[in-house]
Amino acid sequence: EALYRIQGWGDPYFSINAAGHVLVSPQGERGGSLDLYELVQELRQRNLNLPLLIRFSDILADRIERLNACFARAIARYNYPGEYRGVYPVKCNQHRHLVESVVKFGKPYQFGLEAGSKPELMIALATLEPALHQNLTSKATLLICNGYKDRDYIETALLSTRLGHTPVIVIEQLSELAIALELSQTLDIAPILGVRAKLSAKGAGHWGESTGDRAKFGLTIPEILQVVTQLKSAGMLDCLQLLHFHIGSQIASISTIKDAIREASQIYVELVKLGANMQYLDVGGGLAVDYDGSKTNFYASKNYNMQNYANDIVAEVQEACEERQVAAPTLVSESGRAIASHQGVLIFDILGASYPALQYPEITSSKENLVIRNLRDTYATITPENYQEAYHDAVQFKEEAISLFNFGYLSLQERAIAEQLYWVCCEKILHITRQQDYVSDDLADLEKNMTAIYYANLSIFQSAPDAWALDQLFPIMPIHRLTEEPTERAILADLTCDSDGKINKFIDLRDIKDSLELHPLQLGPHHTRAPYYLGMFLVGAYQEIMGNLHNLFGDTNVVHIKMTPQGYQVESIVKGDTISEVLHYTQYKPDDLIETVRRRTEQALQEQRITLEEAQRLLSNYEQTLTHYTYLSGAC
Ligand code: PLP
Repeated sequence: EALYRIQGWGDPYFSINAAGHVLVSPQGERGGSLDLYELVQELRQRNLNLPLLIRFSDILADRIERLNACFARAIARYNYPGEYRGVYPVKCNQHRHLVESVVKFGKPYQFGLEAGSKPELMIALATLEPALHQNLTSKATLLICNGYKDRDYIETALLSTRLGHTPVIVIEQLSELAIALELSQTLDIAPILGVRAKLSAKGAGHWGESTGDRAKFGLTIPEILQVVTQLKSAGMLDCLQLLHFHIGSQIASISTIKDAIREASQIYVELVKLGANMQYLDVGGGLAVDYDGSKTNFYASKNYNMQNYANDIVAEVQEACEERQVAAPTLVSESGRAIASHQGVLIFDILGASYPALQYPEITSSKENLVIRNLRDTYATITPENYQEAYHDAVQFKEEAISLFNFGYLSLQERAIAEQLYWVCCEKILHITRQQDYVSDDLADLEKNMTAIYYANLSIFQSAPDAWALDQLFPIMPIHRLTEEPTERAILADLTCDSDGKINKFIDLRDIKDSLELHPLQLGPHHTRAPYYLGMFLVGAYQEIMGNLHNLFGDTNVVHIKMTPQGYQVESIVKGDTISEVLHYTQYKPDDLIETVRRRTEQALQEQRITLEEAQRLLSNYEQTLTHYTYLSGAC
């Protein structure tokens, strides 16, 4: 458990059972558990190939419940006179099943949606239930309209009021205000307007640029004052009801959050003093996920929990409002990552591995080259006392061997022997260094160079694009064999032909390590390899939609699992792309391709370059392959 830090990042959803398998408890401490390895075996029996993204609906429900419970507790604790009304930012994961589930699970809390673009607005309008069917005694479920907006966007949002929605049009650019005012007059619909402020409080980490004067989105304070002036002169200042900010995603430090809330609370009370009809303070996203389980302000972690987050927001806003005798706003947050990450687990298999050549080469000639004899001597005399010196000798002799080879003094066989000797020296030295408390810098590369490469049946570009683009760390670990010691250290290489298609950074305590502890691959029946399954966890936010078709590896299979009193139920399956489908994206027509290949086989038959049987076999392989999953079908 300690090795993969599962308790740190997985609690309360993921742990390890007595069989050495990952155990999933989708309802946290309150519900039943599932053996993840057994689940994967059973899903494979349903013809679902790997890589496979498993979504646990109950985890999603639990995250929504927890967030609302944290705000409810904070509101009770500080006697806050306002309410909390969260929204889910659709951009975080737009997939239909997921957004529909968020709306379903969020209903008891009147949890709304946030749209950041026109397509997301289309999703929100059709997925959120309008107020006619809501409980009208309490405040409405919000539809926050963010992002750059054109006329269509604003008009559609405004007209949705007629259906019973409560759209809040958040002004991100001054030009949007004029359109909103004009349309509201022609349509005779009073808009609920918000302003997005560019705070001076700075976010940190990968997404920290979302704030400050040079931020892409939002209005500066002078611009916000212009909005107030324009609304006032139009006699519509009562439409300005919401203040929004977003200082970036994955805010690791609570002090950054506090700074932002403090600044925003002051802007809020000032807007009230200026006569705006302020009702809502929307604190945006940023609630972080503890990917490495260290509970620190390291960028892959966070030094606060959800309750601290809610407490600080409620307390800061309360204090500012009390001090200036302003009515407390309804608090809105747009937490995406914290809601959607945990429910998504990507399962993939390992197809094979490559290791440095670790066999001691036998002496084949009495007249071996001096450099080879030197390497043999080095190997024979490595001890805990001289290992550092021996390492430098081995490196030097290996370089000498390569240079002798380049000048034609060493044969290919001799070079192979020299390289093998170098690797066995490194292995012997590595064993010694692993026993040491301190290893000097000049040996730092040794572990890295000795790392195995495990070939993973997935595309990083499709399934974990942030690991490639932003060096984001996701917890990765085997989902079985966890009672055995993982004796190998490896990096993961994906199926793409891209040298960036690898994962060579893994979570460590407040740090990053260069390799992952894995088990040696085992043989299965009939000389096949026994399956070795790894899980990449906390991948439910942002990864799927940002994934791309590099090398034409398509969407993975997705399965939705729901807990039942009897165990679990497969709620729905969304099959991953077939080869035909990814070819369609690139404007190829599979029927045309088949026809071209068919014509070529006829031509080859005419010229007697292929037999009829071979031609038929080629064509049937071609046609079949087009219907297949884009990933490989298992270890070979
Ligand atoms: N709101 C806005 C305006 C955003 O741009 C984002 C994403 O960065 C979010 C909310 C969601 O943020 P998070 O996933 O950190 O909760």
